[in-house]
Amino acid sequence: MSKINLNKISHSYNPNDANPTYALNPFSMTWEDGKRYAILGPSGCGKTTMLNIVSGLVRPSSGKILFDEKDVTDLKTENRNIAQVFQFPVIYSTMTVYDNLAFPLRCRDFSKEIVEERVNSVAETLNLKSFLNLPARKLTADQKQLISLGRGLVREDVAAVLMDEPLTVIDPDLKFKLRRNLKEINEQYKTTLVYVTHDQNEAMTFADNIIVMSEGEVVQTGTPKELFERPNTTFVGYFIGSPAMNLFETEASSSNSVKINDTLIKTSTDLSRLKDKKIKLGIRSEFIKIAKDKKENVISANVEKVEDLGNYKLLTAKIGSLTIKSKISRETEVPLDKVDLHIPEDKCCIYENEKLSKIKKIFFSVIYPRNYRLLP
Ligand code: ADP
Ligand code: MG
Repeated sequence: MSKINLNKISHSYNPNDANPTYALNPFSMTWEDGKRYAILGPSGCGKTTMLNIVSGLVRPSSGKILFDEKDVTDLKTENRNIAQVFQFPVIYSTMTVYDNLAFPLRCRDFSKEIVEERVNSVAETLNLKSFLNLPARKLTADQKQLISLGRGLVREDVAAVLMDEPLTVIDPDLKFKLRRNLKEINEQYKTTLVYVTHDQNEAMTFADNIIVMSEGEVVQTGTPKELFERPNTTFVGYFIGSPAMNLFETEASSSNSVKINDTLIKTSTDLSRLKDKKIKLGIRSEFIKIAKDKKENVISANVEKVEDLGNYKLLTAKIGSLTIKSKISRETEVPLDKVDLHIPEDKCCIYENEKLSKIKKIFFSVIYPRNYRLLP
């Protein structure tokens, strides 16, 4: 396994055009050895391009790829020691399932014993044991994709296993189980796994770290919790979480509060620099609760609908023409028409030009000298 460093990488598929377009804008990042990463973003945002640059199928227009500090930018795929699993099965259909799984190991002259041990172990994890002696062409489409996945996982000596939407053709129940198995493989063998998906649930349940992309740009890298609680941009707030983050256009009313439909909402961001600027207040529906009385940061709303979504209720309400959504427990009673909602100060995110404002409010505290005594 290796630490993988992408250093000032960018890529254009038409670099010689008068106006080249960039599938990847310049970015740098490091993938630590043995971790699980997800590259998440809508179709066409550059996920596959990024993965292919790491595996060597695409040479970046600028920048360097380092595996454990060694520059591999000009190395061919086969010399990079990477396993790659694609969206659709890549298998030898006339070979048996066993031979398909054994192939990457035999190519590298592993002993018969090691081949047998690894093939059996991977076949066990992927539910392929009873098919080992069948020709691969006799298997169903999703089983064929499991063979592809198995061929990626069978070697323990790879720098990383790169998976490009590998479970697209697999049915949802099996998908859930396979994601869990992949996590176990990562924990057991400490294989660096990089998993490309456009599905935020897949990314959030699979990865330690998620790289969120939009239109060729890496917009945020972080743990699922960081992406959920402090989205770097309104795009991340919108793309991650269900429902999407509540976002309201507003203006700063004081150094730390904004106005939403005439109600002052305190935030823990320093807004003095943002006076008279158009900003947005972002708040997750999970953090908004029904208030019992009118205190600070409580806003009145008209109930539109309450949906029972199994383990929680989703309240949709109107503040003037604005729509606000709040996730509440099943036990919470919701009034029929008017409702007071509490918006916690420390959970408010402020966005300027769609980017998170990270300047925190400063709290002054008085430090008394040691021998200071209050006057009698
Ligand atoms: P994703 O995997 O997120 O769907 P891709 O990396 O495949 O995105 O594509 C990013 C952008 O690059 C898209 O606009 C796509 O049309 C373009 N692109 C991808 N592959 C090629 C290629 N071989 N030649 C030209 N343009 C490409
Ligand atoms: Mg793709």
